[in-house]
Amino acid sequence: VLRLDGVRKRFGDTEVLGGVDLTVGEHDVVALIGASGSGKSTLLRCITLLERIDDGQIWLRETDISDPRVPADRIRARIGTVFQQFNLFPHIRVIDNVTLASRKVLKVPRAAAEARALELLDRVGLADKAREYPDRLSGGQQQRVAIVRAIATNPELLLLDEITSALDPELVAEVLDLVRDLSTEGTTIVMATHEMAFARDVADRVVFLDGGVIVEEGPAAEVFQRPREERTRAFLSRFL
Ligand code: ATP
Ligand code: MG
Repeated sequence: VLRLDGVRKRFGDTEVLGGVDLTVGEHDVVALIGASGSGKSTLLRCITLLERIDDGQIWLRETDISDPRVPADRIRARIGTVFQQFNLFPHIRVIDNVTLASRKVLKVPRAAAEARALELLDRVGLADKAREYPDRLSGGQQQRVAIVRAIATNPELLLLDEITSALDPELVAEVLDLVRDLSTEGTTIVMATHEMAFARDVADRVVFLDGGVIVEEGPAAEVFQRPREERTRAFLSRFL
């Protein structure tokens, strides 16, 4: 579904991504782990075209999305993205947040878009919040709406960046449960996370980033139980 070839990104003189190669297959759930500043968010932002890469290529199926000529909003409709916070547009209702991309980018008629949105909201137990404004919802509810919005366009790929780190601890589980459900249903997911237990549980593959390069990657069970690299061991030991 996704392939990164030698992706480099610089901010000024600082190289933040130093040549990242990564392949994500259909139905894969990949956890990106690494210390603060290792480049996880930057990598996800490059994939969703919020940042332009300096070198390398990013392929979404047969499309070279790193080609500056591809229209970014079209690509973003094929990739669902949820960030740590400030995901929802505060000035429009939940239902409009969820249907916006389908209606504006994919030109789905309002009635069809709303029917689909209500179905998805119902699945996450939030159908009764459809007419509310986002600030009337708890953080956990807002993140579940953000995930629903991200999948409303039936994206080929879902990117999640620390989606629980701004939440009160008691709200984390309801969001992670939804991600777990999506992964079980076969959604292709790349998620940056500090929730190591969740990553070990849900991810098929773990990618450890350090200083903007992939130091180690492999099946979740292997990376967590028998990391090959000293740097991975040192990083993981902080979570034990
Ligand atoms: P965290 O776990 O804290 O979210 P991260 O792995 O997501 O960290 P990034 O946010 O990708 O790390 O940042 C990687 C490096 O790039 C950091 O050194 C950061 O300061 C730098 N950086 C990120 N965005 C910018 C920017 N817009 N301008 C300059 N430097 C940036
Ligand atoms: Mg980050």
